Amino acid sequence: MAKLKIVKMGDDTLRKVCRPVDKITPRILTLLDDMVETMRDANGCGLAAPQVGILRRIAVIEVEEGEVIELINPKIIAFAGEQQEQEGCLSIPGRWGITKRPAHVTVRATNRHGEEFEVTGSELLARALCHELDHLDGKLFVDCMIEELKD
Ligand code: ZN
Repeated sequence: MAKLKIVKMGDDTLRKVCRPVDKITPRILTLLDDMVETMRDANGCGLAAPQVGILRRIAVIEVEEGEVIELINPKIIAFAGEQQEQEGCLSIPGRWGITKRPAHVTVRATNRHGEEFEVTGSELLARALCHELDHLDGKLFVDCMIEELKD
């Protein structure tokens, strides 16, 4: 596994719409492994492929330690409620803010074995799912931030 460089806000890569993965190749599996290592090294709870300069619809999330969720071609298929909580981003170091997100989100995605699965999250997991999926469409949390927090 290898640690990848995290792209920071201001880089065009973060504003592009990512392409779907049509075939899960060994390169994609290596990318997933490297993204997990990079996310953990940076103490993040989520990382999307464009954040490491790869314009593919891939994201990893680890909200509960040891429970990594790998998402290939993820789509939100249901959402409900509303929450307003704090968010940050590994690509926007030093900035934090309150965003408005659904309280519950269900995402359908493909796993590393090419199998479709669904994951439903509330609270932090719901925020992480929305945040990482936004990255795949070139959106950042500061776009939907309703209040910036100062320390
Ligand atoms: Zn982010």
